[in-house]
Amino acid sequence: MNRHIAIYPGSFDPFTHGHMDIVKRGLEIFDTIIIAVANNSEKNSLFTAAERVDILKQLTADNPRLRVETFDGLLVNYVVAKKARVILRGLRAVTDFEFEFQLAQMNHTVCQQVETLFMMTSPKFAYLSSSIVKEVGRLGGDISKFVPPLVKEELLKKFGQ
Ligand code: ADP
Repeated sequence: MNRHIAIYPGSFDPFTHGHMDIVKRGLEIFDTIIIAVANNSEKNSLFTAAERVDILKQLTADNPRLRVETFDGLLVNYVVAKKARVILRGLRAVTDFEFEFQLAQMNHTVCQQVETLFMMTSPKFAYLSSSIVKEVGRLGGDISKFVPPLVKEELLKKFGQ
């Protein structure tokens, strides 16, 4: 078991400064973080999993301690396959808590060796979510403050702007 790998799973549809903040702070604690893009067909995503992975690979290319992959199926199975024990998640408002609590309990019950660690959002990103960025972008608002320039570019392409 490698104790210094964390898996940071999510939809990342799209990846925001809030996500990047968790990744950067996570790198202060873990040797390697695998950003694991959920290939979840049930969620109505704007970017395909392949597009999200492609964007993330470009955003993280200069950091050998970051890896980007996609996964489907049960998250804990993926975590064990990667020889990791830690799932890293971010928490924003209390509204995140109930779902995350349930998910972490479920994952731990299914696989006792896997622990979920939560990192509190930095206050300046507490309001930031992928869905709000998509909404503002779709309506023509300036999203420069919320996402890396590459993500902004790709979002504008999607919205035909
Ligand atoms: P999911 O669909 O799995 O919730 P998201 O891409 O929405 O995927 O989020 C991935 C992880 O990043 C989650 O743990 C979420 O709470 C966290 N996160 C998202 N936005 C922020 C933010 N602004 N600050 C801190 N954590 C965040």
